[in-house]
Amino acid sequence: MRAAAATQASRPHPEHCQLGGLTDCTEPAEIKIADSWGDSAWGCSAHVEEAILNVRSVFIASEELGGLDAYLHRSSQK
Ligand SMILES: [Zn+2]
Repeated sequence: MRAAAATQASRPHPEHCQLGGLTDCTEPAEIKIADSWGDSAWGCSAHVEEAILNVRSVFIASEELGGLDAYLHRSSQK
């Protein structure tokens, strides 16, 4: 979790956690999560942990893993 936050810290992201739901969370957004449908959101470490526990298909979005976007555009990079 800490490593993911450090990796993503330099990426553009919203200032505050988006995972607070009806109660606005004012914690800084540290980690980006996504699901297999392409939805993604930034959240504080507490909410990200909660989301991962409660939503089965959610995972931490990490550019280190390559990402589908890079794969989809592989032919245009030649
Ligand atoms: Zn939060």
